[in-house]
Amino acid sequence: MSDIIHLLPDSVANQIAAGEVIQRPASVLKELVENAIDAGASHIQILIKDAGRTLIQVVDNGKGMSETDARMAFERHATSKIKNADDLFSIRTMGFRGEALASIAAVAQVELRTRRAEDELGVLVEIAGTRVFQQEMIQCDAGTSFVVKNLFFNVPARRRFLKSDNVEKSHILAEFYRIALVNTEVAFSLFDGDEEVFQLQASNIKMRIENIFGKNAKKRWQQQLLTIETSTGLVNISGYVGKPEYAQKSAVQYFFVNGRYMRHPYFHKAVLLAYNQMIQATESPNYFIYFEVDPQTIDINIHPTKTEIKFENEQAIWSILSASVKESLGKFNIVPSIDFDQEGSIDLPTGMSVENVRPPQTNFNPNYNPFGSTTYKRPVLDWENLYGDFEKKEKNIESAPDCQPDLDSLINGSKNASEQQQVIETIESRAENFQFKNRFILTSIKSGMLMIDQHRAHIRILFDLFISQMENRKALSQQVLFPELLELSTDDALIFEQLLPDLYHVGFDFETIGNHSYHVKGVPDQLGTASVIDLLLTMLDKARTTAEDLKEGMHTTIALSVAEASALKSGQRLSNEEMSDLIDRLFACANHNVTPDGKKIMTIFTHEEIEKRF
Ligand code: ADP
Ligand code: MG
Repeated sequence: MSDIIHLLPDSVANQIAAGEVIQRPASVLKELVENAIDAGASHIQILIKDAGRTLIQVVDNGKGMSETDARMAFERHATSKIKNADDLFSIRTMGFRGEALASIAAVAQVELRTRRAEDELGVLVEIAGTRVFQQEMIQCDAGTSFVVKNLFFNVPARRRFLKSDNVEKSHILAEFYRIALVNTEVAFSLFDGDEEVFQLQASNIKMRIENIFGKNAKKRWQQQLLTIETSTGLVNISGYVGKPEYAQKSAVQYFFVNGRYMRHPYFHKAVLLAYNQMIQATESPNYFIYFEVDPQTIDINIHPTKTEIKFENEQAIWSILSASVKESLGKFNIVPSIDFDQEGSIDLPTGMSVENVRPPQTNFNPNYNPFGSTTYKRPVLDWENLYGDFEKKEKNIESAPDCQPDLDSLINGSKNASEQQQVIETIESRAENFQFKNRFILTSIKSGMLMIDQHRAHIRILFDLFISQMENRKALSQQVLFPELLELSTDDALIFEQLLPDLYHVGFDFETIGNHSYHVKGVPDQLGTASVIDLLLTMLDKARTTAEDLKEGMHTTIALSVAEASALKSGQRLSNEEMSDLIDRLFACANHNVTPDGKKIMTIFTHEEIEKRF
């Protein structure tokens, strides 16, 4: 048999390598803009079309390339930035692997126009799928322009893998922020088709932060940012941290080292520690922190698209960082004043104190006689207020001849035989309910004692309700008197727009007032006193982390978030009737044993178990 191993053609090898480096339009943008920065540009213009699918153009006024370099630039492992292995340990440029342009050219159609200031003529190179189609001398501005068209034109699987335009755009913006926030002496413009998204002048860091994130809320950034500044032999730390009262669920947090964005969960903890006791556990401070270290003491060579960076002196820098943030917070007289240690206490949404938890309202029936059980009629509850509008059939309990609930509807609601058995058993012998610790409902059933977590039970009930509202496209909304203002960053707004249809179906209503701001005009009927803005930001947070399946996956996230915020709380006292009704509603849910996120709603203590104890 003949030998079977051969070298892959360049086009294939580059395409494989591209799989690592170029995952989506945002990766192309990142690589091109980083190259422009490395070329010393002071002005970088970016244009995208169709979220970068059909066009990404980056024009810089940097040093340009010679004719030969323009051609060489597309070779794999071709770079002007390092020469030998030693250089790997003193990297000051953004790029150094020499892979990006080769990768982009393997999976897109690329036009490069470039001229060095000292040359009279520039050069045009056209290349697609690693094949050079054209190379000629042209007249052009000094600097470099890359046009990348039809990304993944030759890799349909990759193309299909791309997400909706809004999600791809939010990735693009995320990359853009990471570069623009650290290269503040560079002017940037970003156009999405004809629309100007950003026009950023060269400035200092604080102004850049405001220009990027503060469009609608300039004052806020002015007020909230505290300077941090520390110089030691190991590290120089500078930048800004947000005042504790501006901490939010979806905080804006950036670390940079030697001019490069990085993620560093360990250092993140150091920052949080400095805020200990000043902010709630569910919130996080805004920060923009810049580290300068000797390049020899970090390893940025982990992976082309990874942003984690290893530090040689991690422990020491951790302490310096935490102390430095603490010092800034201290300087501005911010003393911990609130104790948020809620260990063992009840579960309240932010901004809510025990006093203003209002009990569910009932329309009390004055004729109600708890002892006349044969003629007993269930008092009429204010259903809308408590649980929202249910189907008429289920709502008719008040007209039932006696305390027997509508068994049929309950049984039809449950799935298998054993569940049905359990329902019947529960209903048949239920008499009196008892509330334990204002948290659990205890009720007697044939086989023993049933214990139900009231908060979780209500979550299940509301969740099922919201899902059915989304499916039936009907919502029960309650208009608010003083609409709150929701201000979002550009990228958050993109994700938010995707959530809008589902948010309408659970009962939210918004008025768009431009500049990524919205008035919250209506809220779900059952929302209670939960903070609307907090709730929306939490959902955005969740949506961002599940951005991969935003299109399908958000129904449940939204329904669950709103259900959790609206459900009866632990600590809320219930009347016997309210307990009965909660139980009825719960058993009308097909899956009444667990919450949508898998937490146990109820448990049974059997007679045998109880007997054994005596
Ligand atoms: P790397 O950035 O890792 O060196 P790239 O594939 O991104 O690898 O780029 C290859 C080379 O092309 C760079 O080293 C640089 O010399 C040149 N180059 C790329 N973009 C530009 C630009 N905008 N201006 C000047 N030179 C550039
Ligand atoms: Mg590069």
